[in-house]
Amino acid sequence: MKEQIIQQLKQNKTVLIASHTSPDGDAIGSLIALGLTLEKFGKKVVLYNEGPIPAVYRFLPQTDRVLCALEPDAFFDIAIVLDCSTLQRIGAAAETVKLTPVTINIDHHVTNTGFGDFQIIDAKACASAEIVYELIKKLGVAIDAAIATSIYTGIFTDTGSFRFANTNLAAFAICNEMVQLGADPYCVSKNVYGAYSLNRIKLLNQALDTIEISQDGKLSMMVLTQAMMSKTGTQSEDVEGIINYARRIEDVKMAVLIHELKNGHKHKPACAPHPYHVSLRGNGNVDVASIAADFGGGGHHDAAGFNIESTLADIKNKILNLEIGDVNSEFGILNSES
Ligand code: AMP
Ligand code: MN
Ligand code: MN
Repeated sequence: MKEQIIQQLKQNKTVLIASHTSPDGDAIGSLIALGLTLEKFGKKVVLYNEGPIPAVYRFLPQTDRVLCALEPDAFFDIAIVLDCSTLQRIGAAAETVKLTPVTINIDHHVTNTGFGDFQIIDAKACASAEIVYELIKKLGVAIDAAIATSIYTGIFTDTGSFRFANTNLAAFAICNEMVQLGADPYCVSKNVYGAYSLNRIKLLNQALDTIEISQDGKLSMMVLTQAMMSKTGTQSEDVEGIINYARRIEDVKMAVLIHELKNGHKHKPACAPHPYHVSLRGNGNVDVASIAADFGGGGHHDAAGFNIESTLADIKNKILNLEIGDVNSEFGILNSES
């Protein structure tokens, strides 16, 4: 498959590269790394991400040139979609991609639908950046410090700083090489984890206050509402990573963060359905990707998510009633101190 993709890249000139909305470090890192590489390979490259690009990833090279909208008549020879289990994950540009003669799907989500004309889908890869790295090697393009920093950031963030179950040998081997080629580990971690706004820390405080745990201790749950976001002056990007606090509690097998999204109905009563994003994290025993897929979302074995329009009470109820291996109806009523 890689050979056919290399062939396609050799034969064509204009390339659109896109990754998923509400991007994480892998979505941005892979996008920049492949974009810079294909430019060195002589291609005309447009980078697309619907955004918003979180402030903590703006230190990466050339994030300013990433477009969040395309001209309606934009046309490309090839589209490359990175870190997306479905084409829809890139947002509005999916319409442009559908009209592109060749679509290449590069991803590591176990729930990837296999869309596109050519695919490299490797659920064992620690990050899409690992697959991008291998492609760069095949292309024979020299990795400079900008590319190295982008690949390093993709792997560093998607493995939770080499802590999550997807941390494989390649993560260490590639990051070792990236550091030799100019990636600065301290600079990356300082930007990604050491430059939070005070508001972001206050949002974390709000979220921690909502933690509930099931009677058997296997499920933890947190809630973030739009009221908490406005009270703390925070954005969706400030939510990244908060769920890991719920996941860290001893004996917890699955952590859930229910995040109310913005909608157009400011004065909708709290009991009316609202759009929510639900993040799921497992500690190895629960396949959260398949749970998310049942709700129309997707992800990895240990980290997944889905969107739902409902009430908070209904979402909590649905989660409490999930039958998932040894973590099942014993969830019962959640205990809460507050
Ligand atoms: P999150 O909980 O949003 O941090 O996402 C965890 C993982 O699940 C990431 O790899 C996401 O790409 C994936 N994911 C989250 N939401 C969705 C969705 N609605 N559809 C498909 N994959 C998702
Ligand atoms: Mn991602
Ligand atoms: Mn990823």
